[in-house]
Amino acid sequence: MVETSEQPATFDLETDVLVIGYGCAGAAAAFEAASAGAEVLVLDRAGGPGGASALSGGEIYLGGGTPIQHACGFDDSPEQMAAFLRAALGPGADAAKIELYSAESVAHFHWLVERGVPFRPSLWDAPAWVPPTDDGLMWLGENSWPFTELATPAPRGHRPTAQDFGGKLLMEVLVAAAESAGARAQYDSAATELIVADGRVAGVRARRYGRELTVRARRGVVLTTGGFVDDEQMLAAHAPRLTGHTKVSAGTDDGSGIRMAQAIGAAVRHMSTGQVGIALIPGLAARGILVNGRGRRFVTEDTYPGRIGQAALFREDMGVWVIVDERAFEDVPEPQRWGVRPAHLAETAAELGDAIGLPHGALAETLTRYNEFAARGTDPDFHKASRWLRPLTPPLAAVDIRAGVRPPGQSTARRGTGASVFTLGGLHTTVDGAVLDLGGAPIPGLFAAGRASAGLHGEGYISGTSLGDGTFFGRRAGATAAR
Ligand SMILES: Cc1cc2nc3c(=O)[nH]c(=O)nc-3n(C[C@H](O)[C@H](O)[C@H](O)COP(=O)(O)OP(=O)(O)OC[C@H]3O[C@@H](n4cnc5c(N)ncnc54)[C@H](O)[C@@H]3O)c2cc1C
Repeated sequence: MVETSEQPATFDLETDVLVIGYGCAGAAAAFEAASAGAEVLVLDRAGGPGGASALSGGEIYLGGGTPIQHACGFDDSPEQMAAFLRAALGPGADAAKIELYSAESVAHFHWLVERGVPFRPSLWDAPAWVPPTDDGLMWLGENSWPFTELATPAPRGHRPTAQDFGGKLLMEVLVAAAESAGARAQYDSAATELIVADGRVAGVRARRYGRELTVRARRGVVLTTGGFVDDEQMLAAHAPRLTGHTKVSAGTDDGSGIRMAQAIGAAVRHMSTGQVGIALIPGLAARGILVNGRGRRFVTEDTYPGRIGQAALFREDMGVWVIVDERAFEDVPEPQRWGVRPAHLAETAAELGDAIGLPHGALAETLTRYNEFAARGTDPDFHKASRWLRPLTPPLAAVDIRAGVRPPGQSTARRGTGASVFTLGGLHTTVDGAVLDLGGAPIPGLFAAGRASAGLHGEGYISGTSLGDGTFFGRRAGATAAR
């Protein structure tokens, strides 16, 4: 391990377990460490807890046979859940983490419920970013191709009982749980450096209102500082395809936790990977078709929309359009359209293709083929579920994803690239949250979870797996640090 600057003679503060960052991973770690009897202090650079977790949709990926799944009529098993996650989060997904996460998912569901997270036993049965209801269960691509051929489909997106975005409620519950277990917090305190003494991480230096603060951690430091999407330089160095897009964050994802650990020799994984939110309405995409700049379909339209986003960014450089007819548009109720309006209308596919700059005739050709298959209720090209297959009839409209969407609570749609992203790569950790060095050995006294670490993910992402692995491995990191 690389020694950092000299250990201070005295520390301003002392605790057993020091958690850096009070998002979902930090709250889960603080709860478990405090419940194990450790003195716990959480530092956060912001003026209060929450991080990106509090802004999130609150979807948590859980399965294997939870009571909510059973109440909605679905059988599931840890094996089927793991099979789906291996495929959806790969290539490069962490097999050991996925196996454990799936095996203990029902127990993690009960842990969340015991802390006070409510889930309603009802299903939102259509593709969506965030359903407009308080239904507690949703599909996240499990019933779309190719996953239908790889694992028995079961919906696993569990949502706290909140209309629209549930992250605020989730964080209120988790922070209250950590506090009642005895964890203390200090805000406006940004950790800047890990202090190493006698071969182990012994604490941190931090900045608070322009002054240095030193904190000693007798048992361990848990880094739960989030990812690095807000640091454009770090993005350019590790994940250049994610630069220049809207950031999915609370503005504090500057990678400081990851860099602090790298400075003492920590290893990182999957730093180039990211979630890609695409500014489309999943219900419209499923009812219509998506085409690329060559006027060709390029992805299964009824799958998890983040998978569409990755295909659109990584393969098509966001040069994609949503094509719908009047019925497809009207079938999605206005409040669920999040302010989306067609950018171009035309009486024929050929005219629409010309209007949006596609090669002449390409859209008409694509639509003729799609409509022939849709009339037969089959989609040999992309295997869209028959439920969403219907020939599209003129007049037709093209939705420009670059115009953005206006989710509930946002006053206007922001124009951009059509992509909003966050990072998935981070510190290399064991299933118990220990941070590994470049040689694969645990760094004594250092733990990490959430987006500061590389969690379940390889290149793929499914909603709910960030709050899911953040809370699950955050708990394990907190418990290990307390021992
Ligand atoms: C609008 C939106 C919707 C989303 N929806 C979902 C969803 O439904 N399901 C899902 O799984 N994921 C969702 N996500 C992604 C998910 O919210 C995040 O990936 C996840 O919350 C990260 O959790 P975390 O605990 O690692 O980090 P965070 O929740 O971001 O917490 C990190 C904390 O660390 C603090 N911090 C950072 N650096 C320092 C430092 N040096 N010193 C002290 N403190 C520091 C920050 O201030 C912050 O409070 C969504 C995100 C957004 C923004």
